[in-house]
Amino acid sequence: MAQAASPYAVLAIGAHAADAEFSAGMVLARYAAEGHPTTILHLTLGEKGHRALSPVEYGAQKRGEAERAAEALGCRARFLDYPDAELPEDDAVKLAVADVIREVRPRVLITHWRGSFHRDHRRTHDVVVDARFFAGLRTIERERPAWYAGHLLFAENWEDMDGYRPDVYVDTTASFDRWLSACEAYEIFRDPAAGGFRYREYYTALATMRGCLARFRYAATLMRPDGDLVARSGALPG
Ligand SMILES: [Zn+2]
Repeated sequence: MAQAASPYAVLAIGAHAADAEFSAGMVLARYAAEGHPTTILHLTLGEKGHRALSPVEYGAQKRGEAERAAEALGCRARFLDYPDAELPEDDAVKLAVADVIREVRPRVLITHWRGSFHRDHRRTHDVVVDARFFAGLRTIERERPAWYAGHLLFAENWEDMDGYRPDVYVDTTASFDRWLSACEAYEIFRDPAAGGFRYREYYTALATMRGCLARFRYAATLMRPDGDLVARSGALPG
């Protein structure tokens, strides 16, 4: 069912289940709590990284974790079920994502910055940039009418820091606790040995550090596309 357009309807698109929650979950939880429709779209489950479980077993676990995390954040969870580490980058994927954009009708799109050491993350960035364009193009006929997501932002993800520039600081003080408990749904968040990275410590410290800089208790940062930084002003600021 299509959501009503809202000033802050947000769609976050992650390469693997957990990416969007860890990096943008505080922002999503804040806007969800304020009554705005928020959705997470996972392009893959990230099912190939477990030490002991098969991809099928771990995929089922990750899907359950993603559903519980989304519920705790107050978001809807959507899945496109492409295989982990093999996300294609063709027009079929871009149109599939564009269809979700047309259905969800977000004002704000959040995804990965392109400066990532992870191939799926780089591809997700490129897929979302083109899907946003396709979704907004009336001449591309799909089941639903065109919808242009007015704002595109990139989340701060530890794997995507090559050239990342934090230029939007969002106060996440009120949503921090909800975000922390939502992320606990993931084994890789609870147990650093399972994920090979200290996610809980990293993102908690990051929220604290960004909050220090922004003068909030906690903050999350986002990056604008370069074109959005152009000031079309008739005069000097001031
Ligand atoms: Zn990932």
